[in-house]
Amino acid sequence: MPIDPDFQTNRKVSGEHNGHKVWSSEDSKLGIHGTNVAVDWDVCVGDGICVDVCPVSLYDWAETPSGEKRSDPVRQADCIQCLACETQCPTQAIKITPPP
Ligand code: SF4
Repeated sequence: MPIDPDFQTNRKVSGEHNGHKVWSSEDSKLGIHGTNVAVDWDVCVGDGICVDVCPVSLYDWAETPSGEKRSDPVRQADCIQCLACETQCPTQAIKITPPP
């Protein structure tokens, strides 16, 4: 199942991680990391295309509690909304929201 594009309405902020919010819901385990650049860690499989294609290199690798790789939008403020990550993610784990 892809990331919920309405996660900011349907979820609550449950914490902070590497300078960004984590959005959780009753049926999420790992949560959505980031807000304007959001990666659903329950959908991400650590493919890494987002890390490779981002022209401003805003993703870093992080690990889940069980040691699986996940991309982490640690510099989300740098996003230029090119949508390369969102359109190329094989599991549709990423949602880019333009600034208001
Ligand atoms: S939309 Fe473009 S700039 Fe923003 S995180 Fe994705 S690849 Fe990087």
